[in-house]
Amino acid sequence: MSKSLSAYLSRGALSIFNSLLRSSLFNPDRRGFLRSAMKSAEAAAKKRKAAERKGEHVPGLLIAGITSSRVFSRPDVENDLSGGGEALSAADWKRIFAEAAEIGVSAVLLTGDGLLRRRDVLALAGRFPSLMFPFFADETLFREENIALMRSCRNLIPILRVEGAGSLDKTARAMSELSSDGAVFGVSVAVTPENARAVTDSAFLSRLVDAGGRAVLYPEYGALRGDGARRLDPSDRAAFLGRLNTARKDFPGALFLALPADESSLGGCMAAGKGFFYINPCGGAEPCPFAPYVGCSLKNGSLKAALNSPFFVSLRESGLADAAADGGCALRAHEKEVASLLTGKRENLG
Ligand code: SF4
Repeated sequence: MSKSLSAYLSRGALSIFNSLLRSSLFNPDRRGFLRSAMKSAEAAAKKRKAAERKGEHVPGLLIAGITSSRVFSRPDVENDLSGGGEALSAADWKRIFAEAAEIGVSAVLLTGDGLLRRRDVLALAGRFPSLMFPFFADETLFREENIALMRSCRNLIPILRVEGAGSLDKTARAMSELSSDGAVFGVSVAVTPENARAVTDSAFLSRLVDAGGRAVLYPEYGALRGDGARRLDPSDRAAFLGRLNTARKDFPGALFLALPADESSLGGCMAAGKGFFYINPCGGAEPCPFAPYVGCSLKNGSLKAALNSPFFVSLRESGLADAAADGGCALRAHEKEVASLLTGKRENLG
């Protein structure tokens, strides 16, 4: 793992926590939440270290597909390899969240389109205060009932999608509302060859950070989905990452992370349980939302069983995921090998 990026993420998270704590002097509700979130993160890290000593690896993050997603869907491979079946119920998610908390997971990223329609699962997530639940929010976030849910479940952390520099006015207003409500939140800005410069512009970032955005994610969907026309070329990506490094120095109050471009500095592909894995809406355990190959199911199986499933273990041991290929997705660069590893290793699909 690149020491500098990894140190930046740890240092940055601590500095954001301290600055949130300082700014919460007159907000006992948020202050209490921040203190207990910190304690929970430390306790989860201890559990993961204890597991490591026993030769087991537990990732700090899970990605849960509460609803299906147009961003992740891959019709060319999904019909054959994604398992399918009925969507997981709230009771299934409850069991999964409980096990996640038990084994030392710190955060569960909730994904999918129209997530706020699954208020049952979001409300359920709020009942696991030791886990943080960042989730991709849409404009329905500001309905009264959703704001009320957020107030009662401070561990739900909205991530607002910013379409680009042109749509910033609308998002900045939304961020101010969240900020004045004491919420902690992040933003996600999709990077394309057309907007790579504008979305790292200092004036653009000042508005995001001044409005309270504490983490800025830059997914490059062209690289994540293997869409050549929407990918940055290597020199544009190098320039983009250079501007991001400048932003990290200029805006210490927020964390910046580009995916998958930053993964090579974080020890390569994080999929298949190395850093996280993805649970699709039907319970299939996939290495990553962008690598839709299901080796086993969580409908009846456990998270531990998925982490130790033959497919995930062989993927982690194969070396295929060791390094991202030229700033793109490592597994997508080896699709044939990944699919052949999967053959004969699927189990427990219910
Ligand atoms: S490199 Fe790995 S973690 Fe990154 S997008 Fe590809 S499969 Fe996912």
